Amino acid sequence: MISANIAALLYLVAGILFILALRGLSSPTLARQGNMFGMIGMGIAILTTLAIAAPTDPFAWALIVLGLAIGGGIGAYIARGVPMTAMPQLVAAFHSLVGLAAVFVAAAALYAPVAFGIGEPGHIHAQALVEMSIGTAIGAFTFTGSVIAFAKLDGRMSGKPILLPNRHMIHLAIGAALIVLVIAFAMTANPWLFWLVAILALVLGGLMIIPIGGADMPVVVSMLNSYSGWAAAGIGFTLGNTALIITGALVGSSGAILSYIMCRAMNRSFISVILGGFGGDDAAAAAGEEEDRPVKQGSAEDAAFLMQNASKVIIVPGYGMAVAQAQHSLREMADALKEAGVEVKYAIHPVAGRMPGHMNVLLAEANVPYDEVFELEDINSEFREADVAFVIGANDVTNPSAKTDKTSPIYGMPVLNVEDAGTVLFLKRGMSAGYAGVQNELFFRDNTMMLFGDAKKMTEAIVKTLEH
Ligand code: NDP
Repeated sequence: MISANIAALLYLVAGILFILALRGLSSPTLARQGNMFGMIGMGIAILTTLAIAAPTDPFAWALIVLGLAIGGGIGAYIARGVPMTAMPQLVAAFHSLVGLAAVFVAAAALYAPVAFGIGEPGHIHAQALVEMSIGTAIGAFTFTGSVIAFAKLDGRMSGKPILLPNRHMIHLAIGAALIVLVIAFAMTANPWLFWLVAILALVLGGLMIIPIGGADMPVVVSMLNSYSGWAAAGIGFTLGNTALIITGALVGSSGAILSYIMCRAMNRSFISVILGGFGGDDAAAAAGEEEDRPVKQGSAEDAAFLMQNASKVIIVPGYGMAVAQAQHSLREMADALKEAGVEVKYAIHPVAGRMPGHMNVLLAEANVPYDEVFELEDINSEFREADVAFVIGANDVTNPSAKTDKTSPIYGMPVLNVEDAGTVLFLKRGMSAGYAGVQNELFFRDNTMMLFGDAKKMTEAIVKTLEH
């Protein structure tokens, strides 16, 4: 058992470490250090909580240790094996558990109020009842929402938006019913009302996420991440636990900021994401129709020749590079080109891949120098001066329909102006559309050459040619 003052101090230290962790994660050079701060902070928070509770019953200790070992073991096992491309669905799956935990903690507080210091059975403080029911509603919503997001991102459910009739009215009605139930629960402390709140929120979470298309799912995951943070903060107030309040608020606000950044990068409003319907059947069908048109096709040798004789090459990586894990061979290609006197730069679109920073992480892993990597707004005007734009596994982020076609689902999203380069090399396996399901007009342009193949194998073939 430790004193309340010491506990508060340790929680404060943990909170500062969490803030330093977030700060570190905002730059590739400090990311590892940031992760370390986060882990140490979490270690301090867990140990402090255990020291406060200091159960005397050995059975309670056994349960805690077993819980930590099983949960930590499963988490570490899954996280170690997951490929980078499956990270968004992993985050969604883990968040569903955060939501569920919030519901269970609130239920425990309801049935054992004395242990939680929030009153007596039948006489729980009104403030705790409000916090508990709101935390449960957000937690339950986060749980089913995250499960649906996981299923869509993992391909276990169609990524297409499923537009149920009158859905906005139904969502509004359930939302209003939830508010009434939370008020009724705060006034009566009736456990039935508590469980009704949980069930309605579970239903609402599923219903609200089902109509949202796969292309918007990463935004949804980040939004649910934010909700799970607020749910944790709410429960933190109930338990009077400062660490939970600080952590919950950090997760809540950083998730909200991340959702905002993603929406801005895709030029979509947060409300339009939540209302759903992006990347629907029409767009996918339109993409299918155009696949028969002729395109200019080239080989690894053609690509090597063009780039070797260029003075400036801009590389545009996308989701396909991540799938193929082509970042290392890509760096070798860039090295060979630089040796031949070619200027090489990388252009990163803010939503290339499947999560913000996806490409930066992969390029950093392959030791690509940071000063060769440029954000969209810093490099977009340079394509005019480039002889070759080498687009490796990217599609939507280069699609000019975002600039010209008001009916396109990606209309308004800023895109990389690769078509301004002398030649555009598109390295992808076939003619399939990008994530939003729209065909890319650039494939059919005169200054485009398609390099059909797996991103890694083709890049390796180009490197071989360059080295001979
Ligand atoms: P896209 O998903 O638009 O295109 C990727 C392309 O890679 C596909 O057309 C595919 O074509 C090709 N590809 C797949 N596997 C391979 C492989 N092994 N080798 C070579 N090529 C391959 O990716 P972008 O990065 O251009 O765009 C990201 C999309 O994700 C955008 O629509 C964005 O809005 C969305 N998104 C991103 C978020 C983020 O935070 N990053 C968040 C939310 C949405 P083919 O099958 O012919 O090979």
